[in-house]
Amino acid sequence: MVVPGFVPAVALAPERAVEDGYTRQRGTLESEPGLHVPFWLLIPAGTGPWPLALTPHGHTHHGADQYAGLPRSPEDARKIARKRKDLAVQAVRRGYACIAPATRGFAPLAPAGPAEFTDDQTCLRQLTYCNLRGRTPLGERIWDLRLLLDWALGTLDLDGTVLAAGHSGGGFLAMLLAAVDTRVGLAVNNCAFAPFIDGDGQVTLCPCNAIPGILEWGGIAEICALIAPRPFLALGGVGDRHDVASMHRLAEQVRQSYRATGAVERFAFFEGQNGCRVYREEIWDFIARQRAAEGRQCLQTS
Ligand SMILES: [Zn+2]
Repeated sequence: MVVPGFVPAVALAPERAVEDGYTRQRGTLESEPGLHVPFWLLIPAGTGPWPLALTPHGHTHHGADQYAGLPRSPEDARKIARKRKDLAVQAVRRGYACIAPATRGFAPLAPAGPAEFTDDQTCLRQLTYCNLRGRTPLGERIWDLRLLLDWALGTLDLDGTVLAAGHSGGGFLAMLLAAVDTRVGLAVNNCAFAPFIDGDGQVTLCPCNAIPGILEWGGIAEICALIAPRPFLALGGVGDRHDVASMHRLAEQVRQSYRATGAVERFAFFEGQNGCRVYREEIWDFIARQRAAEGRQCLQTS
């Protein structure tokens, strides 16, 4: 990923859309030579400093648009409303400066190739390209997120709090980002909290989440232990494809890590009853509690 002589760069569009209580601006990160990662930057009305929210999305084409509350069709609008997927809007309305980037593997960053194999799951095409180059899709995605964090921390008027939060595959990315980057102070994994292999031997995560050899080192519980003692909320939806008993076992393992660091109250697992959706109230209540414990405020907005 590191290319000698190449310096990643961010460009912001000159136009800014003014919405109720915030502004929205397009941005682009050139994270590798010729690879431009688009993102939305949402900034609260008024002056900073603000906490920062980084909200990666999961297995959805144009997922950053959904997070920013920008449906591409009436059906898309219904899905955003039903699943409460406007995560970036939720963040900015609670006072966060928010970056909602595109995730590699999905439009507008879906790799090209013949349709007959993987046109409906373009992340598998990314996985193939990565295998050929000795990379992983997760590595590429985390690379982009860390560069955006570099840029935000050096450019925006921030108060020092960094939240990483995502839904589904985006939740998995938020969790991994927090594990490898201690600049992330709070993490939320909504509906992708599952072991690599669940209790009955099934792999419920998409193949694009594979890390060669990871089980020689540990599983998701060990990855989450790297987040402790920083606040971490994991959520799972009953009716989603992940096994509920496995999620509870995993949560208990993670809880043990937090207990060992003397911060058991900073980890929570929530079992939602409405399947795969953003559990908005539980997420923002948890974050507000953790911020309050640090002596910081969080706006509560429905
Ligand atoms: Zn995938």
